Amino acid sequence: MADDCLFCKIRDKKIKSDIIYEDEELLAFKDINSQAPLHVLIIPRKHIEKISDVDEKNSYLIGKMIIVAGKIAKDAGVQESGYRLVFNCGPDAGQVIFHIHLHLLGGRKLGWPPG
Ligand code: AMP
Ligand code: ZN
Repeated sequence: MADDCLFCKIRDKKIKSDIIYEDEELLAFKDINSQAPLHVLIIPRKHIEKISDVDEKNSYLIGKMIIVAGKIAKDAGVQESGYRLVFNCGPDAGQVIFHIHLHLLGGRKLGWPPG
């Protein structure tokens, strides 16, 4: 846990967020600056800074995050229309919060390639 980590504070309910899913290991909440009709962030409770810090011990969390994202997408009705899952890693990718989070985006046609 990093003392100054925004997503650890959201996990600990020290900062308010619109939580839509939580279990023993994961949390999902709406992105505050939504880029699509559906824009949810899925995080592990465990503070891991970057996707490049994932290793053999914690990689199972990534699989769980993808499964949870799929369930949220299904509940939101975008399973058939499609959705995008994104991990930004490091400055060039635009990562601004250094607690890994999976972006789930859907509900509109998304452009490719990304900017
Ligand atoms: P990234 O650029 O991949 O690090 O994404 C960070 C995301 O966190 C951005 O999409 C922000 O809009 C989002 N964000 C920042 N602060 C909050 C917050 N308090 N609650 C929900 N989402 C947030
Ligand atoms: Zn954190």
